[in-house]
Amino acid sequence: MLQLKEITKNYTTGEFTQTALDRISISFRKTEFVAVLGESGSGKTTLLNIIGGLDSYDSGEMMISGVSTADFDEIDWDAYRNNSIGFIFQNYNLIPHLNLVDNVIIGMSLSGMPSDVKHKKALQLLAKVGLEEHVHKTPNQLSGGQMQRVAIARALANDPNIILADEPTGALDTETSRQILDLIKEIAQDKLVIMVTHNQALAEVYADRIIRLSDGKVVDDSNPADSTDQGEFELNKTSMSFFAALRLSGKNIATKKWRTTLTALASSLGIIGIALILGLSSGFRVHIDQFQEDALTEFPIIIAQTASVLEHEPNSFQNQEQDHDDPERIYPFDTGKRRISHTNTFTPEYLEYIAKIDPDICSSIGYVRMVNLNLLRRRDDKTFPVTVSAGINLGGMGSMGTAGSMSSGITSMRGAGLASYPETLDQSAPSYLERNYDLLAGSYPNSETDLVLVIDRRNRVDHTVLTNLGFSTDELADLRFDDIVGTELKLIHNDDYYIRTDMGNFIPNNNYDAMYDSPRSITLTITGVVKAKPHLEIEILGTGIVYSDRLVQRITAAASESEIVKAQKECDVNILNLSNLNAAMKQALITSFGGDDLPQMIFLFPTNFSAKDAVTSYLDAYNVNKSSSDRILYTDLASTITEMTGGIMNAITLVLIGFSAISLVVSLIMIGIITYISVLERTKEIGILRALGARKKDITRVFNAETFIIGALAGFLGITIAYLLTIPINNYIYNLTNLRSVAQLRILHAVLLVMLSISLTQIGGAIPAVMAAKKDPVEALRTE
Ligand code: ADP
Ligand code: MG
Repeated sequence: MLQLKEITKNYTTGEFTQTALDRISISFRKTEFVAVLGESGSGKTTLLNIIGGLDSYDSGEMMISGVSTADFDEIDWDAYRNNSIGFIFQNYNLIPHLNLVDNVIIGMSLSGMPSDVKHKKALQLLAKVGLEEHVHKTPNQLSGGQMQRVAIARALANDPNIILADEPTGALDTETSRQILDLIKEIAQDKLVIMVTHNQALAEVYADRIIRLSDGKVVDDSNPADSTDQGEFELNKTSMSFFAALRLSGKNIATKKWRTTLTALASSLGIIGIALILGLSSGFRVHIDQFQEDALTEFPIIIAQTASVLEHEPNSFQNQEQDHDDPERIYPFDTGKRRISHTNTFTPEYLEYIAKIDPDICSSIGYVRMVNLNLLRRRDDKTFPVTVSAGINLGGMGSMGTAGSMSSGITSMRGAGLASYPETLDQSAPSYLERNYDLLAGSYPNSETDLVLVIDRRNRVDHTVLTNLGFSTDELADLRFDDIVGTELKLIHNDDYYIRTDMGNFIPNNNYDAMYDSPRSITLTITGVVKAKPHLEIEILGTGIVYSDRLVQRITAAASESEIVKAQKECDVNILNLSNLNAAMKQALITSFGGDDLPQMIFLFPTNFSAKDAVTSYLDAYNVNKSSSDRILYTDLASTITEMTGGIMNAITLVLIGFSAISLVVSLIMIGIITYISVLERTKEIGILRALGARKKDITRVFNAETFIIGALAGFLGITIAYLLTIPINNYIYNLTNLRSVAQLRILHAVLLVMLSISLTQIGGAIPAVMAAKKDPVEALRTE
């Protein structure tokens, strides 16, 4: 069965080499009870450990059923210990945190026996050794004799062929020793039992054969065996499932609840921090996005005739900067050159392209046209010119100051905003005014000749708007909506409004009644008073009278054929006052007479916040394959704001997470230390597991399971605490800002953080877990 040939084992400590076994040759029968006697230090334990595959021999050969173990690798030895050997130790070597059943089961778990089978078998074995009433106790609740019975049951669990018992009765009184030896004798009738003892009397009573060792040599063998028997020999590989490792470590952890709880609490701090930061930042982001959506939905994409672009290209500003190497010198530069101003040349083709935009992505379009409206009002039989604006003009109109005609005219853009309201593309949808402005009196405009008065949120409007409309200062003291709604104005054709003098120039006609009654005059009516709805954060329309762009287009259509436009087109001086003009001034003048229908600016209103991107891609699509001067550039202020706030939020979040990550690093180190301590505490268990056939890998797994449990615990603890903390935090934020439940712990974040916690503890415990696996089983068993 088992044959040792010239087995030698030396232990070298420092300079000194101790020969524990000196060319030992013994053959064992398949079934016999062998007692090994010898003085302390004679090599008995070493012999058993080598037979049991716990220790390696230096030279010689060991044959099992005629098979040499010379080419066994580690895994074979693990399987051999598990399948073929049952160990019984003097100090029992039970795992203290497992009950008797679990202690007996371990070896069976390693050999992969199904759960119900091994459980039943463990109970049978415990009954066989007389412990059926104690199966749920833990080892420290038993007497020495009882513990040794458990160890015997455990040794029998995998039906080994060989039982190795190292002074099994060494710690027991004579009576109990006899009972234990009776038991061993009984259960081992079909096995090879090799028992080390120094009790010669007992050996002589129980053993079939007595071998005496002295100084690592066999000095006497009472019944030597032949070395002939051959046989089948097969090993089932062992492994411990991660679940079994979890159970084992879970039971170990259960014995040190306080330490584990505190450890988990400490390593959960970083998780709590990150969870709260993520919860807060995603909560704030939701609110900011919501706010921006509310605020910026009605914020248009603007296409102006001159778009100014900050220079980022290397050819100008930055290149110059490289020459600025003299710290004592002053370098004058042209601030204007830092910006490239791009001229958007609107062509009829482009306007058509814009008009064709999908109403699903762009709800309305507003235009700024620098066209004067020639207006008259008749009141109490008196007819007089009026204007429908406060007369404040923007931008390009500065050069028009010299043009006298402007004093009584308006353009479609004011200092405070647009004067012609955006047109809704989808006729069936509510109009821009209906969506964004509350009607206070009268009705929304129905036709292009309807005007409305826009007042601000406190019902105010600049007084010049009203005086320019012909209301007297006395009336302004108590002006009601009804006084304004219904007011009629006449829009006068250029050919009535201007008359040619003998000198060839044009002057405004002052026969107001004739103009007012001219069949070419168009009646405009102020039909309503409106004010911005509360949700409208940015008011694009200025306060004052607003009108439709179709009205302006109607004016330009009629004006292009008018005398004054034709005359001004042909003449290089101001046709009104004959003053000199440059080309730009001339063009502006023609435009103001309605002689040019190209807008100054275009405002595109996306249907909603997310449609904005579709609108900008539509605009970008136009520029594909265009030369740079033909490109039309737009300004999307809303996205600039969004990108900015988004970027700031991201930066803050990252910095805070960085701080919390420091506590994760601390807990990583802490887990490493805790696991290392656990490895020290469980060294004996490591030895026991190895003796029962656990592979090195399984030992690593046991400690990984331990850190897994701590990591998961820390993760769940952290998430729970963070979740509970969101309640007072949200209350606090609510009191501060009126925003409800800002801190929201998302499920995804929670799951990811638990996973992060587990992975971090796994990393932290990795080195101690590998150290545990490398422990020598013999030394591990010897630790107390
Ligand atoms: P026994 O069990 O018969 O008392 P052992 O087999 O334990 O004897 O030891 C045999 C000899 O080998 C002793 O001299 C002991 O000191 C030595 N020895 C055993 N294990 C080691 C070890 N790990 N390192 C060094 N020497 C050892
Ligand atoms: Mg010994």
